[in-house]
Amino acid sequence: MRPLELDPLFRTVESLPGIGPRLAKLLSKLAGRESAEDTRALDLVLLPPHGLIDRSFNPGIAHAPEGVVVTLEVRVDRHQPAPKGNRRIPYRVYVHDDTGEMALTFFHAQPAWLEKQLPVGEMVMISGKAEWFYGRPAMVHPDHIVALAEADTLPAFEPVYPLTAGLSPKVLRKAIEAALALLPDLPEWADPHLVRRLGFPAFADAVRALHDPRDRHDIDPQALARRRLAYDELLAGQLSLALVRASLRKLPGKAVRAPGLLRQRIVDALPFSLTESQRLAVADILSDMARDERMLRLLQGDVGSGKTAVALMAMADAVESGGQAVLMAPTEILARQHHASLSRMAEAAGIEVAVLSARAKGKERAAILARIASGEARIIIGTHALFQESVVYHDLVLAVVDEQHRFGVHQRLRLTAKGTAPHMLVMTATPIPRTLVLSAFGDMDVSKLTEKPAGRKPIATVTIPDDRISDIVARLKAALEDGRKAYWICPLVEDSEDSDLMSVESRHASLCKAFGPGLAPLVALVHGRMSAEEKDNAMLAFKRGETRLLVATTVIEVGVDVPDATIMVIEHAERFGLAQLHQLRGRVGRGDDASSCILLYHSPLGETAHARLAVLRETEDGFRIAEEDLKLRGEGELLGTRQSGLPGFRLANPAVHGDLIEIARDDARNVLESDPDLATPRGAALRMLLYLMRRDEAIRFLRAG
Ligand code: ADP
Ligand code: MG
Repeated sequence: MRPLELDPLFRTVESLPGIGPRLAKLLSKLAGRESAEDTRALDLVLLPPHGLIDRSFNPGIAHAPEGVVVTLEVRVDRHQPAPKGNRRIPYRVYVHDDTGEMALTFFHAQPAWLEKQLPVGEMVMISGKAEWFYGRPAMVHPDHIVALAEADTLPAFEPVYPLTAGLSPKVLRKAIEAALALLPDLPEWADPHLVRRLGFPAFADAVRALHDPRDRHDIDPQALARRRLAYDELLAGQLSLALVRASLRKLPGKAVRAPGLLRQRIVDALPFSLTESQRLAVADILSDMARDERMLRLLQGDVGSGKTAVALMAMADAVESGGQAVLMAPTEILARQHHASLSRMAEAAGIEVAVLSARAKGKERAAILARIASGEARIIIGTHALFQESVVYHDLVLAVVDEQHRFGVHQRLRLTAKGTAPHMLVMTATPIPRTLVLSAFGDMDVSKLTEKPAGRKPIATVTIPDDRISDIVARLKAALEDGRKAYWICPLVEDSEDSDLMSVESRHASLCKAFGPGLAPLVALVHGRMSAEEKDNAMLAFKRGETRLLVATTVIEVGVDVPDATIMVIEHAERFGLAQLHQLRGRVGRGDDASSCILLYHSPLGETAHARLAVLRETEDGFRIAEEDLKLRGEGELLGTRQSGLPGFRLANPAVHGDLIEIARDDARNVLESDPDLATPRGAALRMLLYLMRRDEAIRFLRAG
């Protein structure tokens, strides 16, 4: 149960004064929560401002620089209401100080309100951006107007928050203040030595300082208050991961020891030999599985590095030892694809690979479930459907999660909370820098695939402005006539699936038109609105060569394997993240033929977009790309869950708080060693932290244990 002290912070934002359903919705968007009900006062308390307005600059009217925020002490001279019937002319209020006169300008004004705020003859403080029109100073809609007697209510420095359309800074500020007023006294959960050593303020003080920056330094992610909060967020993350891990370790694994005969048969039948790093990874995994302690290993390898074959080796031993193995894929398409390729590879060893699809219904589903329960099905591929309550395993000894950045922590937790205790292998595609591995997965053992399978040719990558799109279309047409296969990826349009769909459909239509009736039937369309079956069929037709150009949204980003596709065109490449572009490009260059990737961009390119595209042109090394990606993401553009699937951090930035990640990991480990049930007073405080940082799923592992 959540400690009672935290109740005020868990009030919904809608229950705050002045916040109705409309604003609550906007606030939930801002806080990145799924719904207004799930957006709590807490989310506002922990919302970091990303900028600062200095309201201490008081130069006098005549010396107010154009476009700069100034605060002025002025006397109100006269009101000049807008002429009746002409809404375009603003309401003006003229004011002066010793240096000159200024017009305050209001559009769509409410005269009664202005007369109350700016009484003729009175002294007031105003603050806002100065603008000069034809040599006359003006201020359009001052941010603040206060009577001189209340001048001290005007903040000298004002934090600036990210905004969402329809949400004004003033309203947001009010909501945050209302939320801050609910902040209770909380016990210290951080290690007191650490707090002293790092000079951390207490949590509540840090939160107040977060919203009350006094100068530029306070906005810096390395400001002490920010470091404290970043640390708290990281500590909660590490603690929850450590709890999961401890509970994983608590359930004894089942040692898997097999002579490796099935594995050998598969290897002998493969049309290639394993790379050195594949062999090393297999050895790591098998030696983990041979112990009673459960394996918890991360297999990192760039797209196309051959993770699936590694997983299959481990699964073959699991089967040979008499157990079952599952492979969980992030999407239905990938589950089917894994099923097809693993079946082929496993055939040599006589292992049948089953697939549990969300689409299998009724009798078909019952039959598969029965085979899983009886142990007849030895290797089972599926999506998260594999871990639904209705699935009962005979003897599950190994679970492989093809993470590909799509599974959140939630799924990982669900997977481990099932009472079964399989060894776990998590495979990720993007080579993640070490600090990110730590923050996303905690202390996992890691194997890396560092080489590409032999025979891979480099992908020629070019960047081309989209006003030359007709050249590309002409070259593409020639390539298709030559019998080659290509992808055409359409841009993300805003956040809406509808507009994505429109862009992909209209591109599909225009390409068909450009290619003419002969080639048009070879052009297929894949997008997120199609049913899983439609998507599969489209992919399959492309794989078989019945279609040769796939116009798609990013649904094909993950794992799709069509070795003879050699051309990748990405439209509006500047709108994609670096990691995502790398993933997309990795769809080609998988076979024997030379491949190319054409990044179409819309001019003018911003500085960061330019740098991103340059990195891609320069290198195919996923590790380097991941590091560059981290460097190029500025503050405020932290790891969004949307792009990376890594748990999003709001206060901690792995690019600048790397030192804190390591400290948090050690602290979490030490705490759990001496207080595994979080039963001491510090433990109780840490439980609060888990709730505050929304990591409380981990708490049930305590109770279960
Ligand atoms: P990923 O790591 O992206 O999941 P896959 O496992 O899908 O990569 O492998 C990509 C392709 O490379 C597959 O067609 C697979 O059969 C092939 N492959 C895997 N290992 C090797 C190897 N050692 N040599 C040549 N091809 C390989
Ligand atoms: Mg894969």
